[in-house]
Amino acid sequence: MSETNNSDKSVGAPPPKATLHLKRPVEQGSVRQSFSHGRSKTVVVEKVKRRILTPGEAPPTAAPAQVAVAPAKPILAAAARSAPVAPAKPAAPPPPKTGVVLPTLTAEQREARARALIDARAHEEEDRRRQEADAGARRERETRDRLEREAAEARKRDEELRRAQEANFKRQSEDEARRRLSGGEPAPSPSIPRVAPTAPGAALPGALARAAGEEDEAKRVIRRPALVLPGQKVIVPTPRPPRGGEQRNRGRLTVTSATSGEEERTRSVAAFRRRTQRLKGHGAQEQKEKIAREIVLPEAITIQELAGRMSERAVDVIKLLMRQGRMVTLTDTLDADTAQLVAEEMGHSVKRVAESDVEEGLFDRPDEEGAPVPRPPIVTIMGHVDHGKTSLLDAIRHANVVAGEAGGITQHIGAYQVVAPGGQTITFIDTPGHAAFTAMRARGAKVTDIVVLVVAADDGVMPQTIEAIRHAKAAKAPIIVAINKIDKPEANPQRVMQELLQHDVQVEAFGGDTLAVEVSATKNTNLDKLLEAIALQAELLDLVADPERGAEGTVIEARLDRGRGPVATVLVQRGTLRVGALVVAGSHWGRVRALIDGKGEAVEWAGPSTPVEVLGFSGAPDAGDRVAVVETEARAREITEYRERQRREKQAARGPALRTSLSDMMSNLKAAGHKELPIVLKGDVQGSVEAITAALEKLGNDEVVARVIHGGVGGVTESDVTLAEASKAVILGFNVRAHKEARDLAEQAGVEIRYYNIIYNLVDDVKAALSGMLAPTLRETMLGNAQILELFHISKVGTVAGCRVTDGVVQRGAHVRLIRDSVVVHEGKLSTLKRFKDEVAQVQAGQECGMAFENYQDMRVGDVIECYSVEEIRRTL
Ligand code: GDP
Repeated sequence: MSETNNSDKSVGAPPPKATLHLKRPVEQGSVRQSFSHGRSKTVVVEKVKRRILTPGEAPPTAAPAQVAVAPAKPILAAAARSAPVAPAKPAAPPPPKTGVVLPTLTAEQREARARALIDARAHEEEDRRRQEADAGARRERETRDRLEREAAEARKRDEELRRAQEANFKRQSEDEARRRLSGGEPAPSPSIPRVAPTAPGAALPGALARAAGEEDEAKRVIRRPALVLPGQKVIVPTPRPPRGGEQRNRGRLTVTSATSGEEERTRSVAAFRRRTQRLKGHGAQEQKEKIAREIVLPEAITIQELAGRMSERAVDVIKLLMRQGRMVTLTDTLDADTAQLVAEEMGHSVKRVAESDVEEGLFDRPDEEGAPVPRPPIVTIMGHVDHGKTSLLDAIRHANVVAGEAGGITQHIGAYQVVAPGGQTITFIDTPGHAAFTAMRARGAKVTDIVVLVVAADDGVMPQTIEAIRHAKAAKAPIIVAINKIDKPEANPQRVMQELLQHDVQVEAFGGDTLAVEVSATKNTNLDKLLEAIALQAELLDLVADPERGAEGTVIEARLDRGRGPVATVLVQRGTLRVGALVVAGSHWGRVRALIDGKGEAVEWAGPSTPVEVLGFSGAPDAGDRVAVVETEARAREITEYRERQRREKQAARGPALRTSLSDMMSNLKAAGHKELPIVLKGDVQGSVEAITAALEKLGNDEVVARVIHGGVGGVTESDVTLAEASKAVILGFNVRAHKEARDLAEQAGVEIRYYNIIYNLVDDVKAALSGMLAPTLRETMLGNAQILELFHISKVGTVAGCRVTDGVVQRGAHVRLIRDSVVVHEGKLSTLKRFKDEVAQVQAGQECGMAFENYQDMRVGDVIECYSVEEIRRTL
C-alpha cells in the first residue's frame, strides 16, 4: 500500500527540483531516506544561505531574503516594464560602489533577468501561501485528532455501559425465565430496555458527534494485545483504501511531508501482518491447553532432550534458565537436579532414574505364567592337566578333537550337546580349566549346573584337581567324579577316592553323596554310566526353564571371524533365542543374523541350555558376558553405551597404565617397587587369551610379576608392536602369527615376538624370564672378629687400627662391620690388611694386624671389627 503511494508520489508530485532560473546557485543534494521494512525515498534538499546586504549594494540576484529591500522594487519593476522596449541602460541602477565593475548587460540578458526576478517573486509568494496553508491544515488536523480521540473514548465508555446493561438484562431475563419455569408466572417485560446498537456517532453530543461522524471510518484505536480485556472481542482492523487529500495527511510534520505534502501515515503491510499474527498467536497460546507430563530424568540430560521430553520449545527452556542467570545452549547438559527444577517450573512432574537403571529388567526377569519345562543340565569338565578332560569329552562326543589339537590341551572353549542313554540331553561346556570358569563366574554368569571332576586313576589328586574342587564348591555346583584312565595297569581308583576325602569330597562308596564313575576315555569304558550319573544328578537338581519367554544366556566364547565377523558362542539359559532378535552382550549388541548349532548347522531358534553360535554382534563380546534380548535398538544402544562408559571408567580407575604416556607408566612401575615383565598377548580365541592371562598373572611373587598389558583376539598387528615397543614389552602369539607389516616393524623396533601353540610352553618361558629378573639372594658367611687395641694416624694412609683377631679369620677385600657397644656404626670394606709391614691376604685368630677401612676413619679403641663374606645365590620362581 505504502509502496504504491510512494511510487505515486514520486511520479505525480516530484520534490521541487532545481528549476532553471537565475537564482544564486543554491547548495542542493539528494538525501536518501530509509524507512522501516526496506522502504526508502530520495528527496532533494536545498540549503539556502541568508545574505546580508551592505547599504547601497544592489542585489545581484533576487533571493527570497532580499524581497524586502525596498529600493530594489521600483527599479526592478521599471526594468521589467522597460525591458521589452528599449535598452535598459538609463534605467539601470547606478554601478555599485563596491568597486566591482559589472559587465554591461545586453538587452536580452536584462530582459531575462527581469523575468527571472518576477518569477522569483511569484515563487516566493506561492511558497508563503503554501506554508500558511500547511500551518492551517496542521492546526485543523490536530484539532481533528483530538476530537477523534475524545470521540473514541466516549464510544468506548458507551460500549462498556451498553455491555453492562446487556449483561444485566440477560441476567434478569434468565432469572425471570427460571422464576417462570418454577412458578408459571407470566414474564413481565424487562425493566431495563436493551440499548439498541446505534450508529457510532449517534450517542455523541453535538460537535464531537459531527467530527466523529466524519472521521468514523478513519478512526483507528490502537490496542496492544496486552490491553485486550478478557472477554472483549479482538477487532482486527481491515485495511482501508487511503482517502484523498488532507485526510491522509495527518502524521508528524517531517521533511518529507513538508516538501512533498503527500506523505501518508499508514501502517505497512508487514506491520499489519505482524499485528495480526501477534493477535492470533496470542489467542492461540491462550487457547492451547497445557499438558503436564511425567518426565523421565536420567542423571544428565541435554537441554534439547529435556525440551523434547517435556514437549516444550527448547527456546523456552533456555529462556527460563537465562532468567535464573544461567547462560546455556541447546546442547549443554544439565544435571538431574537442575533439569528437575526446570521441568517442575514448566508444570511437569519428574521421575528420576539412575544410569544403571538402563539394565533394570534386562536379566533375571521372573518367568511369566508359562509353565516351566525341564531343561538339560549344563556340565563343565574340570581337572588337572593331562588327566584326560579333552579325551573324555571327545569320547563322549565321538568326535576326534584331541588329534587336531597341538599338545592335546583343550584350548578352545566350546559347548556341545550329547544325549544320555536314558534319552536326556546334556550340554557340555569345554573349558580350558577352572580359570575361565571362574572368570565367567566373576562376571556374574552362573553357567554350570554340574561339574565333572576328572582325576587320572594313575596320578591321583593333583594341585589343579584341588583348585577345581574349590571352584566347584564356590559356585555351589555339585561334583561328579570321573576317575579316568582305569585301563592303565597302575590305575588305583581307591587311592583317588581316599585322596578326595581329604578335600571334602565324599564319594558314595565312602558313604558320601558324591557320585563317582570309573571311566576310560581311550577305551570308552563306562561312559554310559557317567552320562547316567549326570542325568541322575540333573534330575535331583530339578532344572527347569520357560522356553516361551525372552532369551537370556551367557557368552562362552567369542572371536572375530574373517568371513563372518564377530562370532559369539552363546549358551541360552532361559527362554528361546531366535534369528532376528535384538541381543545385547557386554558392550556389544546386534540383530541375530544366524544361529549355528553344535553340529555346524544353521538353526532358526535355540531353547534353554542350548549352545549356539550367534552371528550379528557389533563386536566380539567377552566370554562370560551375559546375553539378553531387548525390544528396541534404542534400548540396545542405551545399554551398550552405558556399559561401554562403565568399562572405560573402570579402566581409568584401575590406573593410568595404558592410557597415559610411557614415562608415566615407567615411573609408576618404579614407584611400585617391583619388577614387571610387560607382555602383549594375542590369541586365537578369547577363552585362550583369558586362560593364559590368568596363568601368567599367577606366576609372579612380591618381587616380580608378569603383566599382560594388552590381551586380544587376532593376529599380531602393527599397533601391538608399537605398544610393545613403547612399553618395552614382549609379544606372545598363541596360535596366531604376525602380519607381514607387523613383523617388519617388530624387526626394526627390536621387539621380540614369540609364537606358541601350547599353553605350558608359553607359561614356562615366561616363568624362566621372570626368574631371570629376580634379584639374587645374598648369603652372608661370618669369617671372624677382631678388636681394636690401638689407633695409628699415618699421613697419606689415614687412620690405621691396630687389632687382634679374636676368632676366625680376617680377609682382605672381605666385607667388614665396625661395632661399638654392640651397635653397628659402619659397614664397608677393608682397604688395608697388614701384618707387621706386609700386606697380607688373611690373618688368623690370635694374631695381631693393622686394618684400615675404605672411606672411614672414625675408629675407636675397643671397637670390634666383624669380618664376613657375601655370596650371591640365583633364585627361581
Ligand atoms: P586334558 O589336558 O585333561 O584335556 O587331557 P587330555 O584329554 O589331553 O589327555 C592327556 C593324555 O592322556 C592324552 O595323551 C590321552 O591320550 C591320555 N588319556 C586320556 N584318557 C585316557 C584313558 O582313559 N586311558 C589312557 N590310557 N590314556 C588316556
